[in-house]
Amino acid sequence: MRPTILFPLFAETRTLTGVGPRVEKSIARVAGSRLVDLVFDLPKGVIDRSYRPKLAEAEEGRIATAWVTVLDHAPARGMRPAIVRCSDETSLIELVFFHGHDDYLARLLPKRQRRLISGRIERFKGRLRMAHPDYVVEDEAEMPLHEPVYTLTEGLSGKGLARAIRAALARVPELPEWSDATLVLRRGWPAFAAALNAAHAPKTEADLDPSAATRERLAYDELLANQLALILIRARTRGPKGRALKGDGRLRGKVRAALPFSLTAGQEKALAEIEADMAMPKRMLRLLQGDVGSGKTIVALLSLLNAVECGAQGALMAPTEILARQHLKTLEPLAKHAGARVALLTGRERGGQRIEVLNALTEGTVDILIGTHAIFQEEVAFRDLALAVVDEQHRFGVHQRMTLQAKGGIAADVLAMTATPIPRTLALTFYGDMDVSRLEGRPPGRTPIETRAVDSERLGEVIAHLERAIAQGARAYWVCPLVEESEKIDLAAAEQRAAMLASVLKIKVGLVHGRMKQPDRDAEMARFKEGKTAVLVATTVIEVGIDVPEASIMVVEHAERFGLAQLHQLRGRVGRGAARSSCLLLYQGPLSETAKARLKIMRETDDGFVIAEEDLKQRGPGELLGVRQSGMPELRLADLAVHGDLVEIARDDALAHVSRDPELSSPRGEALRTLLYLFDRDEAVRYLRTG
Ligand code: ADP
Ligand code: MG
Repeated sequence: MRPTILFPLFAETRTLTGVGPRVEKSIARVAGSRLVDLVFDLPKGVIDRSYRPKLAEAEEGRIATAWVTVLDHAPARGMRPAIVRCSDETSLIELVFFHGHDDYLARLLPKRQRRLISGRIERFKGRLRMAHPDYVVEDEAEMPLHEPVYTLTEGLSGKGLARAIRAALARVPELPEWSDATLVLRRGWPAFAAALNAAHAPKTEADLDPSAATRERLAYDELLANQLALILIRARTRGPKGRALKGDGRLRGKVRAALPFSLTAGQEKALAEIEADMAMPKRMLRLLQGDVGSGKTIVALLSLLNAVECGAQGALMAPTEILARQHLKTLEPLAKHAGARVALLTGRERGGQRIEVLNALTEGTVDILIGTHAIFQEEVAFRDLALAVVDEQHRFGVHQRMTLQAKGGIAADVLAMTATPIPRTLALTFYGDMDVSRLEGRPPGRTPIETRAVDSERLGEVIAHLERAIAQGARAYWVCPLVEESEKIDLAAAEQRAAMLASVLKIKVGLVHGRMKQPDRDAEMARFKEGKTAVLVATTVIEVGIDVPEASIMVVEHAERFGLAQLHQLRGRVGRGAARSSCLLLYQGPLSETAKARLKIMRETDDGFVIAEEDLKQRGPGELLGVRQSGMPELRLADLAVHGDLVEIARDDALAHVSRDPELSSPRGEALRTLLYLFDRDEAVRYLRTG
């Protein structure tokens, strides 16, 4: 149950005076529906009204505040705005009002009276001007010297939102301190309520800096709530219950013997970690991070076979049907060597075929199920699921991971795999409930990929290069980006490009895109894989996981529109075979500074972890992980690109506290419970025995 002390903060914004249904809706769009959402909506800027020049010295473009005397009014005429002339002892100034009502202006600025005005200084034909002053008041007290600036939306004025936030702040209670006292002292952090109030009352740009003490304190609170929740969830899901899976190695031995290669040191290390974890009588919750092409699939298969050797079943989940089918194609023949039975379940298996698979699963005549989201369906029941592998984990949410785990009764182990290398702070923040294995290095025999950024004006040269390469038997991807807002137009562009390449190169060109029916897409991919088409034009549906070792050229059009992680993924589609590979990033200028930096990084490195760190800096964690799609908690106060060091501190602090006070029953424990509720981590509280 939510602590009563938090009740005021969890009231709806409509309980604030001045917030009617219309404003409530607008606030919900920028912040949320509760007071706590409103107060966590920190200002993005500050208006400083402390610049008080003599008018003769007022600098153009600055926000200035001045006492003036009203001289006369020139009412609006037709297109001409109303002008009110005022002056101080040094200069005249014209206050300009478009669509101003004369009687209103006469009341606002009565002749010969003194008024305090504040607004942006302009010069027009040598005359000093101020269009629509922000303030015209009779008393200094009526004008704030510093005003926070918030992100606005339609139907919400800056003043309206600021007023609502002030009202909400007035209801923020004093809360007990949940953070480590020495840390708070050492960092010079104010208490939570004070920090929140101060964060909404910036005076200078420096106060908006995410590393300012007030902002840092709030970021830490959020990160602490996050870490604590993950630690509690982890303690519960790993729990004492679980089963020891330690196969005798007979199936794995057969598959290893059948492989045309031996495992890399990185693969062996990751596998050893996974096997050791599976052997423990605890539930495994492990993330396998490995760059594109590092060879995660075979690690997954050997882990699954470990479970099969124990007489249990395994499941491998892929985010798309193409990937599920590709996994089936590579894994089934290998599994056969070991006599393990593999089945496929995607949205496409229907009717009799589907029933057959479902029956085989419950009877236990299938050892390994490969599939898509379809595996989550309720009717899917295993006889004895012991290990669930989730490929491209970032495409799935925590919730789905748990659903899958639940299919294994009490104790299925979970191995999540991701090709999006994640910096440590991010991994801790979003997967802090998991152990992490890093698959380092790549299989041998790969030649490095030559990456070049090319202005799209040189399209002709690129095509000529492609023509020569294809004449020598090369195969190429040609990616045209798909931007959601204009999917149709983008699709047309991709179709046009395919037709153009076909006619210039006089060859068959394939085309795959997201709107295609699955069978058509698969067929097109298959033609490319078999070499029947030498060029495959694609929207980003080829982004993840597709493996065509013969492809050696990747052309990306509008490379400036892609994020770093995406470019890295795309480039990872080539350089998988022995042939020398190249990646041509076609861009359309002029490039923004970020786009320039992105292309530069791509040319300089192909280390996924370096690229991921850079991506984090450029785009922020939400984008990087697809946080929004995956339903992971969004961070509202913390910015991982800045507050990364706080993650580690929060983790250590939370771990230390939970080891002393696992049920959060001490006074600080109680405060920490309040913190969990404050940041909507209620779920974690339920994992406490005395929750
Ligand atoms: P990813 O980690 O991106 O999922 P894959 O598992 O698809 O990578 O592996 C990429 C390619 O490398 C596949 O063609 C696979 O057969 C090959 N491969 C995997 N491990 C090795 C190895 N130890 N030696 C040589 N090739 C390997
Ligand atoms: Mg893969």
